Amino acid sequence: MTILLNSLESRDAAFVLHPYTNASQHLKDGPLVIARGEGIHIIDSDGNKYIEGLGGLFCASLGFSEQRLVDAATRQMKELPFYHSFGGKTHETAVELADRLIQLSPVPMSKVFFANSGSEANDTAMKLVWYYHNAIGKPEKKKIISRMRAYHGVTIASASLTGLPNNHRDFDLPIDRVLHTDCPEFYRYGRPGETEEEFATRCADSLEQMILAEGPETIGAFFAEPLMASGGCIVPPPTYYEKVQAILKKYDVLLIADEVICGFGRLGTMFGSESFGLQPDMIVMAKQLSAAYQPISALMINEKVHSAVVAESEKIGTFGHGFTYSGHPVATAVALETLKIYEERDIVGHVRDVAPVFQRRLNELGEHPLVGNARGRGLIGTLELVRNKETKEQFKRADGIAIHAGKQAQVHGVITRALGDNYSLCPPLIITEGEINDLFDRSTRALDDTY
Ligand code: PLP
Repeated sequence: MTILLNSLESRDAAFVLHPYTNASQHLKDGPLVIARGEGIHIIDSDGNKYIEGLGGLFCASLGFSEQRLVDAATRQMKELPFYHSFGGKTHETAVELADRLIQLSPVPMSKVFFANSGSEANDTAMKLVWYYHNAIGKPEKKKIISRMRAYHGVTIASASLTGLPNNHRDFDLPIDRVLHTDCPEFYRYGRPGETEEEFATRCADSLEQMILAEGPETIGAFFAEPLMASGGCIVPPPTYYEKVQAILKKYDVLLIADEVICGFGRLGTMFGSESFGLQPDMIVMAKQLSAAYQPISALMINEKVHSAVVAESEKIGTFGHGFTYSGHPVATAVALETLKIYEERDIVGHVRDVAPVFQRRLNELGEHPLVGNARGRGLIGTLELVRNKETKEQFKRADGIAIHAGKQAQVHGVITRALGDNYSLCPPLIITEGEINDLFDRSTRALDDTY
C-alpha cells in the first residue's frame, strides 16, 4: 500500500504499538483505518463497507450504531461522569447493574465485583481463589488448572491461564501454580475409532490423573470457557462437563466459568454455563456485557467465596483489591442499558431463531476443499483450514493460511480474524437471516479465492 507522509496511516506506523499485530509486518503494510460503524457493518476511511464477521472482537453484540447506548452514556456523563467504589462508596448504576446480574445468573450468586477487562476479571478470580483458600485454612490449595488452547486474557496471571504458545513464548510465562490439561477438541485430538463420549472420558481421566499427580490438596480451581472461542471455537463433546464437574467436586476444586465470550446470548442461552450444565463458583463476564460500547467486566462470586472474603476482613482488615475504574458510572450505565435492550428485544430468542441458518451455512461450507472441520454453536463458528481434508494435515505455520483467507475476506467485504488455522465467525447478535446469508456468500468467495 502507498502511505502518504503525515497521513493517519503513516502516523499510526510512527507512533502506535498495536496489540496482537506482527510488529515487523505492520511497518510494511500499515493499518486499516476504520472511520465509522453502521448496524453490523464498519466503514473504512476510503468508504469501503465490511460486515464485521467477528463482532469486533466477539463483543459488538448490538452492532455499531445503537443510539440508546450513546444516550445512556451521555446522560450519565452529564450527571456523574466518574466516581469510584473504594471505601464503601457507591452510585446508582453500579448497584442496579450488580442487582440485575445476580438476577440473571444461571446459578445462585452472592456478589458482583467490577473491573474493566476480561483479563482483569480473570486476574481477580485467580487472586480470590488464593484468598479464599487462605481464609478457609487451606493455604496449600493454590494451583490452578486451565486447558491447552484456552484463552483467558493477557495480564501476567490471566495470560498464564491462557493455553496458547504465542501468549507465553518469550514473555517468560506461564507463572508457577498454573497447569494446563487436555483441550477437549474431538476433531484434532480424538483417536481413530474413539467416540466423542470416550474422548470426553479420556479428557476427564487425564484431568483426574493431573490432580492426583500434583496432590488434590494442592489444587484450588479449574477455569473454563464453556465453549473455547479464541482457541478455535472448541465445543466440548457430550458428557465432558458432567465428568469434569464430578471430578472437581470429588477433590473440592472451585470451578470458574469464563463467560467473557459466551455470556449474554452468544450460544442461544443467556450464559454458556446453561448450554453446558455448568455449576460454577464464580462467573467472569465482559465484552457483550456492555455490547462493547464501554470497557467493563464483572466477576460474580457465590456466597461460599464471599463469606471467606468477609472472614478475611474480620481477620486482616480491608479487602486489598480494586481498580480506580471498578464500577465506573458511565460503563455501568451503558451495561445496564445493554441488558435492558437484550431483554426488550429478546436478543437471546433472536439468536435461537437465526442460529439454525448460521449453523447450516457453516456446515455447508465445511464441504469446501480447504475446510477440514466446521464447528460451532449459536452465533459462533469456525472453519478449520487444512492442507489435506482426508488426513487432516495442517498447513505449515509459515503459510499463514487463515491470515491469507482473512485478507481475501476483506476483499469480499468481510472482516474476520485468523485464530491459528481457523477462519472464525462470530457476528453481532443483531444479525438478520439475510445478513447471515450475505456473510456466508462472501466467505465462500473468499475461501474460493484462497484455495
Ligand atoms: N476471557 C475470554 C474467554 C476471552 O475471550 C477474552 C478476550 O478475548 C478474555 C478473557 C480477555 O478479555 P480482555 O481482552 O477484555 O482482557
